[in-house]
Amino acid sequence: MTHHLFSDNAYQTECSATVTAITQQGIVLDRTVFYPLGGGQAGDTGCLVLADGSQITITDTRKGRADDGSFNGQIAHQPMPDMLEQLLNQEHCSSLKLRVGDQVSARIDWARRLRIMRFHTCSHLLCHIVPALVNGCSITPDYARLDFNMTDPLDKAALSAAIAQLVAAAHPVTVGSILDADLDANPALVKSMSVQPPRGSGQIRTIAIGAAATDGAATMAMTLIDLQPCGGTHVANTAEIGQVIVTKIEKKSASSRRVVLGFAP
Ligand SMILES: [Zn+2]
Repeated sequence: MTHHLFSDNAYQTECSATVTAITQQGIVLDRTVFYPLGGGQAGDTGCLVLADGSQITITDTRKGRADDGSFNGQIAHQPMPDMLEQLLNQEHCSSLKLRVGDQVSARIDWARRLRIMRFHTCSHLLCHIVPALVNGCSITPDYARLDFNMTDPLDKAALSAAIAQLVAAAHPVTVGSILDADLDANPALVKSMSVQPPRGSGQIRTIAIGAAATDGAATMAMTLIDLQPCGGTHVANTAEIGQVIVTKIEKKSASSRRVVLGFAP
């Protein structure tokens, strides 16, 4: 199992870690700040700094898979293909040494991750603004797109204005959790038809926008903007989203509208 430091603190950019495996899937660490592709959010990039100061560039991060294809709880940090080849055949390569048990420093490309966090939190705002279920999403450092299951047209300027208002209101964004049983009793909390919340531990991670998790039920009802199960990384306040606008709306199919978010020029 790789411990997910990004789940508790999305702002942690670096950690020390121990190499637990080097496989065809990449370099596995006991703990990491690298978010693996999932829930529509892109995997992190960055580098691993070795004890001698040399660096291995990480171009993507994925959840590790067992032979049967199921997730195995590990996180695989993917170097360039030729570098991975060298790491897997180190007996033939004297210049490189990274072994299981070695200590490394794992460092994400923070500027890129922060753009992803801004888009991810903004995509949750969009879930609040657009009264429809999401049936697909992709959150990258350069844009985010959400496909809504709806037939009504959407207005680009109106959506951008609604986003700007929620960003200006500087709503707090908080990580919480909900019991599987409570989620089952409140299926409306799941805004996405394509991404199933991660289950298995009895509780599911949630992202709330607009009300502190410690607020009483009455306050929650008044100030909560959005609450949904999500494993992704988010900014701590909607103000940090900054200048994000709707750049494109596409009619993807008779029952699907695609909204693309981008940074204002
Ligand atoms: Zn999310």
